Amino acid sequence: MKHIAILGSTGSIGKQTLNIVDQNKDELKVVALAAGSNINELEHQARKYRPSIVAVWDQEKAADLKQRLSDIEVDVYSGMDGLLAVATAEKAEMLVTAIVGMIGIRPTIAAIEAGKDIALANKETLVTAGHIIMPLAKKHNVRILPVDSEHSAIFQSLNGERGNKIDKIILTASGGPFRGKTYEELEKVTVEDALKHPNWSMGKKITIDSSTMVNKGLEVMEAKWLFDVSLGQIEVVVHPQSILHSAVQFMDGAIIGQMGTPDMRLPILYALFYPERRTLYAEELDLFSVGTMTFERPDMETFFGLSLAYDAADAGGNVPTIYNAANEKAVAMFLDGRISYVEIPEIIASSMMEVFYKENPTLEEILETEKATYEFIESRW
Ligand code: NAD
Ligand code: MG
Repeated sequence: MKHIAILGSTGSIGKQTLNIVDQNKDELKVVALAAGSNINELEHQARKYRPSIVAVWDQEKAADLKQRLSDIEVDVYSGMDGLLAVATAEKAEMLVTAIVGMIGIRPTIAAIEAGKDIALANKETLVTAGHIIMPLAKKHNVRILPVDSEHSAIFQSLNGERGNKIDKIILTASGGPFRGKTYEELEKVTVEDALKHPNWSMGKKITIDSSTMVNKGLEVMEAKWLFDVSLGQIEVVVHPQSILHSAVQFMDGAIIGQMGTPDMRLPILYALFYPERRTLYAEELDLFSVGTMTFERPDMETFFGLSLAYDAADAGGNVPTIYNAANEKAVAMFLDGRISYVEIPEIIASSMMEVFYKENPTLEEILETEKATYEFIESRW
């Protein structure tokens, strides 16, 4: 039996992780769950999976949930203490980080320090604190297993290739709902348009990020940390069918990739049971119905959020944090109707120019950078 804890259990990745638990009842047991505010769903999950700890970010809602769950044996926490309690839950061997945003940094660090393996979906944590997380994981001898579909594909492609030289990583991107559009067309994009992803069904923030290509930018930085390659070795390739989930090109020119349907449960399953594979009860990929796979260069001028990610990664220090924090804030403002769609990358670019620079930031400095970025944006927009 493998015991797991989940940060963000009521979200898209969180629920799909619980579906994998349902499919593997004899081998997986949920011991702790955390969510932001959806206590109806969390109550249902607590009754079904019987974890010993649940956490809700919102304090009042946590009190409400505690009341509702008074008939079962479970500890209910709130706020950052709650996230930390779930992340370090004694019985868990693995933490699934399915929370959205850089709020995941502290619990992820705490889980690593407590010796938990990490199934990492929460890419914002690695983008902003990769220089802290990766050495820490090594020090505590814990695994960081990628859940992001592209990174899982790369991870699978590297199996058995230990020591063989990577020429480059081919990071595929669907191109999102606005592939092929001009800047002028993007100026008219509404929240509703941006929330329609052609291939994947995901949380709101990552759906917007996919449409701006900022998601791919974050993934470039995520890949850099996970696979220890240089920026120049990471090539983004637009592949609208989302069948080849990413690939590795080796020194001899061989390209090894992983293909599958666009179903996040495969990378989740792979991370949970690595290095073993299990049956996934889902639709299998049928190459006859796929028919054709196409590849194109990304339009980094129109979707300049992607090229800003390369700039941020190249600048290093706290600049990836500025990039990420500015994006988190800008996406929230766009979803609230406070800014237009094309202002998202503009806000990121201005923040990268205006917020203070810090080399090799500590955790405190990363959080200060986030705060300074938010303040800068609030003062200008
Ligand atoms: P989502 O919005 O559907 O779910 C987010 C979850 O985090 C929810 O359970 C929410 O309650 C919880 N949460 C948010 N703020 C919280 C807080 N302060 N305290 C406690 N819980 C909080 O998001 P998602 O699409 O599942 O994405 C989660 C992460 O996985 C993101 O980092 C995303 O980039 C990454 N990811 C998602 C997908 C996907 O297909 N959805 C694919 C690859 C990577
Ligand atoms: Mg991805």
